[in-house]
Amino acid sequence: MDGFDGKVALVTGAASGIGRAVALELAGNGAKVVAVDLKDGPTQSIVDEIAAAGGSAIAAPADVADARQVKAGVDAAVEAFGGLHLAFNNAGIGGPQGLLGDYDDSDDFAAYQRLIDINLNSVYYGMRYEIPAIIAAGGGAIVNTSSILGIVGEPTAAPYSAAKHGVAGMTKSAGAAYAAQGVRINSVHPGYIDTPLLEALPKEAYEALVQKHPIGRLGTAEEVAHLVVFLLSDRASFINGSQYLIDGGYTAV
Ligand code: NAD
Repeated sequence: MDGFDGKVALVTGAASGIGRAVALELAGNGAKVVAVDLKDGPTQSIVDEIAAAGGSAIAAPADVADARQVKAGVDAAVEAFGGLHLAFNNAGIGGPQGLLGDYDDSDDFAAYQRLIDINLNSVYYGMRYEIPAIIAAGGGAIVNTSSILGIVGEPTAAPYSAAKHGVAGMTKSAGAAYAAQGVRINSVHPGYIDTPLLEALPKEAYEALVQKHPIGRLGTAEEVAHLVVFLLSDRASFINGSQYLIDGGYTAV
């Protein structure tokens, strides 16, 4: 892996799961990391973990559903480290489950709106402020977290699938728009990954998910991080506007 010495990387959802794994791998390869997450405590603990390993990071707590808070995270990167080169827009939540026609008009509508705010609008806010900062720093790369459900549908997860398809579309448009100015933009599409996001799943539901992956298990956050860090590196210099599945074969059958 190319080193990231001198590069500044903003990671959202950095306190847990995939975001945490990416923050650690980037820092381990020399990047200065701006850790963005809702929770001050865990966000600070990933920063402390990076510092203990000899790396450099700051915490920029923010609700990514709020454009002003996202802008403050980008500003914090520029203020603390002099610029921004890389971004991983990854914070996300699960959505309301069930068939569309069965959703109730209050709780599920509100949950849908919140899901779109966190899983889709956050990527818009992120790129809105990251792209000009990255161009100002001389170029770099962005990876956005979509999902297998940004490629295929799932009967009981229409809101989540809508958000994740939106992430893929926004990524393609932005990649096409900014590559000439030195900003490569791609999305990753994980299958089910063993992170705290899946903690609430009953054992039978977890096992049913395992069966859907021909590889016979769920993925790990570290496996997704390896792909994300590759896409952020200069080794991926001709990859732009693309959707990268990492799903143990889930969408192959
Ligand atoms: P996770 O729950 O372990 O981590 C998500 C992080 O995002 C948490 O630290 C949480 O605090 C943060 N977050 C949530 N809402 C936020 C907000 N409004 N503002 C700032 N931070 C917020 O989950 P994960 O599995 O690592 O998920 C990361 C991304 O990967 C999400 O976008 C998710 O949709 C996507 N994804 C996950 C899976 C999976 O199976 N785990 C599969 C495909 C895609």
